[in-house]
Formats: sequence, C-alpha cells, structure tokens
Amino acid sequence: MSALICQRILLKLSGEALMGEGDFGIDPGVLQRVAEEIRDLIDAGIQMGVVIGGGNIFRGAGLAQGGFDRVRGDQMGMLATVMNSLAMQDMLSRLGVEADVYSALAMPDVCEPFTARDARRSLDQGRVAILAAGTGNPYFTTDSAASLRAVEIKADLLIKATKVNGVYSADPMKDPQATFYPRLTYDRALAENLQVMDATAIVLCRDNGMPLRIMNINDPGALMRLMRGEAIGSLVEKGD
Ligand code: UDP
Repeated sequence: MSALICQRILLKLSGEALMGEGDFGIDPGVLQRVAEEIRDLIDAGIQMGVVIGGGNIFRGAGLAQGGFDRVRGDQMGMLATVMNSLAMQDMLSRLGVEADVYSALAMPDVCEPFTARDARRSLDQGRVAILAAGTGNPYFTTDSAASLRAVEIKADLLIKATKVNGVYSADPMKDPQATFYPRLTYDRALAENLQVMDATAIVLCRDNGMPLRIMNINDPGALMRLMRGEAIGSLVEKGD
C-alpha cells in the first residue's frame, strides 16, 4: 500500500456538506458517511483537526439582511458551528472514534475552550480535534478559522471539502466552458477572485506557507485516495 502524503491535516467541511439533499440542518446519513471517512483516515494513522461551518443552520450575513444585528447574527452562526461539531463528535463516538470539541467561545458545560496546545495534544493522542465556533469573532468565516487553526495546529495540509471537484475558472454549474485548475498559486486565486476560499483565508495560508487542497466531499473514498498520493481536486500553493 502506498505511503501517506502527510501526517497531520486540517479538514474544513462546510455546514452545507452535512445537509445532503435538504435545505437546512443535518442529514444523519451524510454525517455518518463523512464521519466514516474521518475514521478511515484516523485508522490509517493520520492526525485530524476538523473545522465545520454553520451555513446549514445560520449565517450572520444572511441574518443581517433579515434585519438582525450583524454581530448577534455572527454569534448565532458561530453557535451553529458548535451544534455541527457536537453532532460530528457524537457520530464519531458511535463509530468508535475518540474526538474532542474545542470551542473559540467559552461554553464549559458543552465543550473545551480552544487552545492550540490542547488541540495538538489531542492530535498527538490520535484523537480527532473538532475546532468549533470559528475564530470566536464576528465578521470572519469558518474558512478563515480553518486557515488559522491549520497554522496553529501545525498541519501539513489544509483540505477544504466542498460540493465541487476543485477550482475552476468560472462556476462549472453555470459555465460549461469553465477550465479546471489542478494546481494554482495563492496569488492567482486572489487576483482572479476564484471561488476557493475567502481572501482572508487565502492570505493567511499564503503568508504562512500552508498548502491548500480543494476537493469534493461527495466523492466517496477520495480523501483516503488523496492521502495515498492520488491527484485529487486542486492544490493551491506558492509559485515556483
Ligand atoms: N462566523 C463568525 N466568525 C467566525 C466563523 C463563523 O462570525 O470566525 C459566523 C458567520 O456568521 C458565518 C457563520 O458563523 O456566516 C457560519 O460559518 P460559515 O458561513 O463560514 O459556514 P459554512 O459556509 O462553512 O457552512
């Protein structure tokens, strides 16, 4: 069996990745399938940090459009990420995988407060570290939280698992001529405003030399094949 390409990763899942065919909340079947993929990587010896978004429940920007105060809306969004994180912890536990939830917002009855040191200890012990509540600050996204946490836990690679196969020159759902980029630089992603991650998240990766892989979470087994060296999705990294 081929060697693993990295030892420690940070996997970013959007809230929508857990929604399945629904338009709100969590699909238990989808949650289980993603949790099984995480289990397979843990069983292979890969250390895994996980950041889950909250867009399947609340997004601050959307709430603000509906008249909510933006800061309150973002706090609601961050709480949504905690709910998703608890759901993932519970599903992993049912699969026999130990996971700790660390939150950027203090809620001691529910989960641990985040420190990079504690999260790294969980990873060293082969436990999944689920990093909840984004950065703990409004006006940020969980993409930015994922970049930040990837750097803090000293991950070898940040993986953003989405609903598309990687990075394209345009939205492939709308433009059949869209070109697929197997590899591109951070600066190109920024300059062409490609739908990779938000600019804050990309800049944080660029400035800290964190390679970023964009891939489709709906391709069963793709995560494991990526870890075994298959070229899956798009790699965003520094230029030559
Ligand atoms: N959020 C925030 N600060 C953060 C991360 C998230 O305020 O550091 C809020 C924000 O309102 C965001 C929501 O949490 O819209 C859910 O996160 P996100 O939209 O990134 O989720 P995803 O699109 O990945 O499901």
